[in-house]
Amino acid sequence: MRQNIVAGNWKMNNDLSQTEALITDMKRQTQTSDCEIMIAPTFPNLWHAFEALRLSNIEVIAQNMHYEDSGAFTGEVSGPMLRSVGITTVILGHSERRAYFKENDVLLAKKVDSALKNNIRVVFCFGEELEDRKAGQQETVVLDQIKNALLHLPMEAWKDIVLAYEPVWAIGTGETATPEQAQEMHAFIRQVLSDHYGEAVANNTSILYGGSVKPSNASEIFSKDDVDGGLIGGASLNAEDFFAIVNAF
Ligand code: PEP
Repeated sequence: MRQNIVAGNWKMNNDLSQTEALITDMKRQTQTSDCEIMIAPTFPNLWHAFEALRLSNIEVIAQNMHYEDSGAFTGEVSGPMLRSVGITTVILGHSERRAYFKENDVLLAKKVDSALKNNIRVVFCFGEELEDRKAGQQETVVLDQIKNALLHLPMEAWKDIVLAYEPVWAIGTGETATPEQAQEMHAFIRQVLSDHYGEAVANNTSILYGGSVKPSNASEIFSKDDVDGGLIGGASLNAEDFFAIVNAF
């Protein structure tokens, strides 16, 4: 169901004591908006975070998973393992996974299928590079990413998919897409869903924006019709900033 969501991607930050401290800070914050809140700590801290937030309205989610359920895949973590520590949502396709770990659309399609098979909701990230935008190719690139990894899914699967449009040139750079650029791309993505699956899927899918969202720009971005919230990197590492974004709706 389409809803407002603010998800914090902690990336490779925060050891156990830092995780505890940030969660304690987050629990002190007040939510005044109507939106789902998620945080994605590192794998070793998922269980602790899940326990610490069990009675709160902050969902603990994972940053990645493997497509096999178990086996000889040293260093990897599977869907059933995430489920066993209470995790029911995973981020897939983040641009850092694509760039540094060479994750491509074929692999991501397998990961999406595996997550859904394990009853894990997916926050699926995609977005164009700066050169793509300069060449006016942003829609073509994004269409390909969505088509290759997601458009094989049956209509019923979309209740467990959240999309996160993250232009690579805006991630961790301090450079944000303008609210108009975000709205234009989100409307395009919704149109792609509508063309492929019909109005219901298009209107019921949450599409988040990610890329240098901070307290000072969140409300303008979130005010756009097709923007249903944000995937937040840097600003999710500070409880006050993160909740200022949560409350920006
Ligand atoms: C991200 O990593 O998904 C992200 C959007 O990072 P930042 O907010 O730091 O740009």
